Amino acid sequence: MYRNTWMEIDLDALYENIERIRKKCGKRLIAVVKAGGYGCGDLAVAKTAIKAGAKMLAVSSVDEALILRNKGYDGKLLILGHSDPEDVSVMVKEKISAPAYSLNWVRRIIEQNCRGLHVHIKVDTGMNRIGFREIGEIRQAMRILEANHCVIEGIFTHFACADTSPEKTEMQFQRFHDIVSALDYPFKWIHCDNSDAAVSLDEKFTNAFRLGISMYGISSYMKDLNYPISLYSRIFLVKKVPAGESIGYGATYTTKEEEWIGTMPIGYADGFIRQNQNRMVYCCGEYVPIAGRICMDQTMLRLPYQMKEGTEVEIFGPHINIETMAKDLNTIPYEILCLISDRVTRVYKRNGQVVAETNGRITESLNWQNIG
Ligand SMILES: *Cc1c(COP(=O)(O)O)cnc(C)c1O
Repeated sequence: MYRNTWMEIDLDALYENIERIRKKCGKRLIAVVKAGGYGCGDLAVAKTAIKAGAKMLAVSSVDEALILRNKGYDGKLLILGHSDPEDVSVMVKEKISAPAYSLNWVRRIIEQNCRGLHVHIKVDTGMNRIGFREIGEIRQAMRILEANHCVIEGIFTHFACADTSPEKTEMQFQRFHDIVSALDYPFKWIHCDNSDAAVSLDEKFTNAFRLGISMYGISSYMKDLNYPISLYSRIFLVKKVPAGESIGYGATYTTKEEEWIGTMPIGYADGFIRQNQNRMVYCCGEYVPIAGRICMDQTMLRLPYQMKEGTEVEIFGPHINIETMAKDLNTIPYEILCLISDRVTRVYKRNGQVVAETNGRITESLNWQNIG
């Protein structure tokens, strides 16, 4: 690591969360590692999830699936979102399962060589994003897929309000239940729950669930999970600034008296967005305000006293909860995590010791054998 800004992932804490949720839910675990494992590292999270019992991984696109294949993952792999029918041959070759989400998509893949493609039927039960709304269309799609030697291995839907509305979730589940029952087909994988539904929706109809955000301790229903992720930087320069001086771009903050100003190497290009400017960070046992605008690569702090250069700064972690931070920023923890850019080094810990680190912009230098 050549730049003192890093994200820490405690693999033991991550493992514990996954294992606990899997046991509580009692279904087969599909670990959702899209967007580079929500910014925490696709393969690191995937390996931890597999150790905790995951039987399949899910990603958002063909690209993300191929990244995992290139990193050596050869197990079950499902795309959740869009795939281009033109890419069907690579999906077949790499054994990547895809959702069949419209009649048009099905008609287009059979123009390619789709023999052997594994599909999960995507049912739209009220999210109104992707998926079939009509059972008649599903029947038609399944006939076409079977006639063209595709393997229909699963069926699934996705909830719009698993975190906020049990009523809406129940209604979506009923639609899904009724459609799957009416199809009367031996689907191997029947799944609808995301993290929140997995621990709140009590049903034995499905046999698998898709776990994403709660691996990282974020849940609307389980409030005692671990928080395995934290983000840190380090003050690299401390200076005394006289009263009446402005700090940073746009001169939005002016010193009221002689003040100690510290600078740390994190900015909006790291995903530490400019809306953070009125928030606090945590260092040396206290909460310290940000001074002035956040720059692309640097942020200034108003220090309570002359702190040492090299002082560690917590952006979120044990003292600044990521869910609170998300509320402050009028967003959700998913967005904060996904925005942390690949120039921030990821540091993986086990038994309190660093076992690997990776920086996407230098090299894939991670020692994966230390994680698996
Ligand atoms: C992202 C995603 C999930 C995971 O959701 P979490 O709320 O993070 O558990 C599950 N299913 C689909 C279709 C998704 O896109």
